[in-house]
Amino acid sequence: MNLDLNNKVFIVTGGAKGIGAAISKTLAAEGAIVMIAGRGKADNARVVDEIVKSKGRASDQTVELVNADACKELVQFTMEKYGRIDGLINNAGVNDSIDLEHGSPEKFVQSLQKNLLHYYNLAHFALPYLKKSKGVIINIGSKVAETGQGHTSGYAAAKGGVNALTREWAAELLPYSIRVNAVIPAEVWTPLYENWINSLPDPKTKLEQIVSKIPFEKRFTTSEEIADMVVFLASGRSSHTTGQIIYVDGGYTHLDRSLS
Ligand code: NAP
Repeated sequence: MNLDLNNKVFIVTGGAKGIGAAISKTLAAEGAIVMIAGRGKADNARVVDEIVKSKGRASDQTVELVNADACKELVQFTMEKYGRIDGLINNAGVNDSIDLEHGSPEKFVQSLQKNLLHYYNLAHFALPYLKKSKGVIINIGSKVAETGQGHTSGYAAAKGGVNALTREWAAELLPYSIRVNAVIPAEVWTPLYENWINSLPDPKTKLEQIVSKIPFEKRFTTSEEIADMVVFLASGRSSHTTGQIIYVDGGYTHLDRSLS
């Protein structure tokens, strides 16, 4: 399948680790130009280097996305460098365990800043250029928005917001032929996931429990499997798909519990 992504420019937030790194590399392998936006300078440089060595095109911007001005600068930098933006992949986030009982109003707002506000800010600042390119927005959400997890109010609220904004933006941007979709992971082995599982009292047992409940093949989803869906949605081969919330999770979120 020719995805026709040659020379198209995509911003990938958190594009140097985990799911974001897989998205960056898969887009570049399809001929797209990737702007990796993350706060780890060395992490960003490593992935850019890897892409360039594989004859792909990428550059990076070291950015703390919680800062709205930095989001604006990222869009400006991308425009100055490449002159167009064909897609925004909102991916960066962190499951920061800000809960109801032990959290605080301040921590809750900070969690929304880390997980939701930069999705809006980047979409807002990139919109004039996405209108010109009839581009795409793809938001990475989480199963937590639908299932809950316990002890993560801020992250859950943010991911619920991501799903709502996906539908809302798909509706608002119909006149511009900008498609907006969300891809929802459940259990993907990444640095974020590893940190989370290691924060639990008995990580090994917890891990075995989780894996045994993933219906399809009793295994984690790979970052590359998430990336393949994102890249398809980024391409014109999904040209009539918008406002969709697509679960790439081995059936974890929705299949009958007797199957797990
Ligand atoms: P990850 O391994 O932690 O990678 C995320 C990358 O984004 C890291 O490089 C991180 O930098 C960067 N980042 C995070 N917040 C940032 C900020 N405010 N400013 C700049 N850079 C930032 O995470 P992942 O597991 O790939 O998760 C990617 C997305 O998938 C997230 O939205 C997450 O909620 C979602 N998700 C993942 C899973 C899963 O099973 N892994 C499940 C459901 C949803 P640092 O390394 O410096 O933190």
